[in-house]
Amino acid sequence: MSTSFTHEFNTPSFKGKVNFPTGLFINGKFVDGSNNTTIDVVNPTTGQVITKIAEGTPNDVDSAVEAAQKAFDTVWGLKASGSTRSRLLTKLWQQMEVHQKELAALEVLDNGKTFSWALNGDTAAAIETIRYYAGWADKILGQVQETTEAKLTYSRHEPIGVVGQIIPWNFPLLMFAWKIGPALATGNTIVIKPSEFTPLTAIRMASIIQEIFPPGVVNVVPGYGNTVGNAISTHMKIEKVAFTGSTLVGRKIMEAAAKSNLKNVTLELGGKSPNIIFNDADLDQAVNWAAHGVFWNHGQTCCAGTRVFVQSGIYDEFLKRFTEKSKSIRLGDPFDQEVDQGPQISQIQYDRIMNYIKSGKEQGATVHLGGDRHGKEGYFINPTIFTNTRPDMKIVQEEIFGPVGVLIKFEDEEDVIRQANDTVYGLAAAVFSQDITRALNTAHRLKAGTAWVNCANVLDSNVPFGGFKQSGIGRELGEYALQNYTAVKAVHVNLGIKM
Ligand code: NAD
Repeated sequence: MSTSFTHEFNTPSFKGKVNFPTGLFINGKFVDGSNNTTIDVVNPTTGQVITKIAEGTPNDVDSAVEAAQKAFDTVWGLKASGSTRSRLLTKLWQQMEVHQKELAALEVLDNGKTFSWALNGDTAAAIETIRYYAGWADKILGQVQETTEAKLTYSRHEPIGVVGQIIPWNFPLLMFAWKIGPALATGNTIVIKPSEFTPLTAIRMASIIQEIFPPGVVNVVPGYGNTVGNAISTHMKIEKVAFTGSTLVGRKIMEAAAKSNLKNVTLELGGKSPNIIFNDADLDQAVNWAAHGVFWNHGQTCCAGTRVFVQSGIYDEFLKRFTEKSKSIRLGDPFDQEVDQGPQISQIQYDRIMNYIKSGKEQGATVHLGGDRHGKEGYFINPTIFTNTRPDMKIVQEEIFGPVGVLIKFEDEEDVIRQANDTVYGLAAAVFSQDITRALNTAHRLKAGTAWVNCANVLDSNVPFGGFKQSGIGRELGEYALQNYTAVKAVHVNLGIKM
């Protein structure tokens, strides 16, 4: 049943036919799932099924691990030099660049994000990530610890082996790149599972990878979390699992790792990031960034600044301008270049977000803007702002993962830092002030893995990203991510010590 996906795009942003093989990508080949079942891939803009793709099973994970182990032992791992890995990663980002528009169009079709962001944001950043790690591949250095006459001691940073990677639906291609870049640069082989909601760009990447890497180095097994995801996190021959997704599932991954072979775990989880705007902020800029913080990617962003704290001196004016800015966000077909916000990913997410909005109303918050459906088909929700909230409300404490922000008035620095840190999450935080001392003092006191000063949702391939508290374990991106994929071995060489 392994087959191909053909689609004719005739959109304002992209016109053209795409055609590529689909299936599970194991040992360099596209194959059927062992149960011969399929998963419906839905276009969230219309709610219609775009295609069906092969569904992986735990048996398929076994086959993928076997292929990855063989590739590790024979052509990759300690067999491929750093310059070989660098050269192949370079070919990969160059081919991604050749296919950038197609990858962006697939992402829009499958995920519903706007074409301009998919092209200039997601795909551009994914290419940049692979380019960045291509540069690292021949610089994975150990250290010499001792060079006396009697002894030489040094450390080797060896690849771990077969690594498992599980990614979410909100940035399908970008998360794919964040995961495979550092793992390949350091010589690991991979079994990766894309989200069941957005498998298309991962499958398209597999056909690009097929032309560049030896069979088995990268294996892509689409499927559900409780089958394929669980098989990866419990697998006895996978020595490391990297996961991006919800805190709920992150816990399961850690439990599974603990109960199986104690594999290394890195987790990039949820957030409820504070965005703090002081009286002396550049108001126009703060409004623009705050809207980007809440509504970018339709609010489906782990680091979204959804708790907007505004100092009392500017609260009324900020609320007025923030409301105007939020009202100006245009919803609709994400391929339309005039559109800023597309649909939520699925009916499930749509319902979840609407339930949060309902709970906010029931708990006594004011819906200042939005709170309702947009249009008749697909999963669109209007930009939503709550005011008059209390710290214990669900909409203030929990990650909504939709276009919903809460505006909270504060009096002084101590008050806002206490409130901002009153969360189980610690992924990111933003501060707006023209007083650099205040801005930096605040940024340093916030318990978050990323602190933005006078900006929001800014990420770079060479800068570490990850969470404090229940937002995660470990760091992705930058040099830090290399540590996730290397095992340090110390070698003691006796040059003359007698027993
Ligand atoms: P999710 O946790 O539901 O799913 C993520 C992935 O895990 C999917 O591939 C899913 O199939 C798989 N999965 C589900 N159950 C599993 C199980 N029992 N065992 C193994 N795998 C399983 O998350 P989602 O809804 O796809 O994504 C949204 C979440 O991801 C949000 O909470 C968001 O904050 C988080 N996220 C975090 C980051 C970050 O870098 N911190 C980035 C993007 C998204």
